Amino acid sequence: MSNFRYRSWLPKYDFRYILNRIRSGNDTRNALSKEFESNDIRGKIDFHNFVYIRKTVTMKYKLDKPVTGSIGTEKYQCTIEWRNGKFIADEPVSGDGKDLGPDPYTLLLSSVASCALITLRMYIDRKNWDIPVIKVNTNLYQETVNEITTTIIDRDIIFGDSVTDDQKVKLKEIADFCPISKILENNIKLRTFVYKTGETKTIKYGNEEISVLWKPEFCQHSTRCWKQLPQVFNPSVKKWIDPTAAPAERIQEQVRRCPSGALEFNYNQTAVVKP
Ligand code: SF4
Repeated sequence: MSNFRYRSWLPKYDFRYILNRIRSGNDTRNALSKEFESNDIRGKIDFHNFVYIRKTVTMKYKLDKPVTGSIGTEKYQCTIEWRNGKFIADEPVSGDGKDLGPDPYTLLLSSVASCALITLRMYIDRKNWDIPVIKVNTNLYQETVNEITTTIIDRDIIFGDSVTDDQKVKLKEIADFCPISKILENNIKLRTFVYKTGETKTIKYGNEEISVLWKPEFCQHSTRCWKQLPQVFNPSVKKWIDPTAAPAERIQEQVRRCPSGALEFNYNQTAVVKP
């Protein structure tokens, strides 16, 4: 398999996983040349060209806990909660706020700056280069041409005197490859779902022993449940969840994999395992 290569856009863990399957003898070359589907990996191995073609990517949120924001009537203080605390976001005084925290543009640019800094620090440390401080200035502007508005984000990265010209070239490449840069440069889709408090509808499927609760409003149709456990989750029938069709532990595990929080598992009406 030494001449098997993967394309730059194929995540390395996928590649390693596939190679391990091949090495462990769990898959033959023949089997892998068909559609390949396991856990979150889906695609096709093309042995003719020795490449793996990823077909679709099942959705998995980056953050285990979502970022939550709320606002009352106080102009324009937003409380932003993240996994380990809270902070205030606000508008500047010129925007009728009190400037008590970063405004939304600043938050966006903070993400651009911090992601580059963290990625660079990881790389520099791994290389053992003597670059003790890195600074980033970032700002944005917008221009409209032919009714199409483009947002230009500029990011200046400043290293100390010790950085060489060759290192600067490499570090620019690394900064451009940071995850937030990739998000902004690739396709982005912003989806908005609207709810009223307490509006969430829950449908229960089960028997006296166990039940699976499904909140359709939360379901993002990532297909993960019915692709990975089709004997239990079958969207082609009306009663689409059958909690008796697999061991409870396996269903629990699948419920935890639901990326949207649409599923819950009840065991004897007592233990609730939240996804
Ligand atoms: S219930 Fe969860 S895993 Fe199943 S389709 Fe909806 S979001 Fe995806």
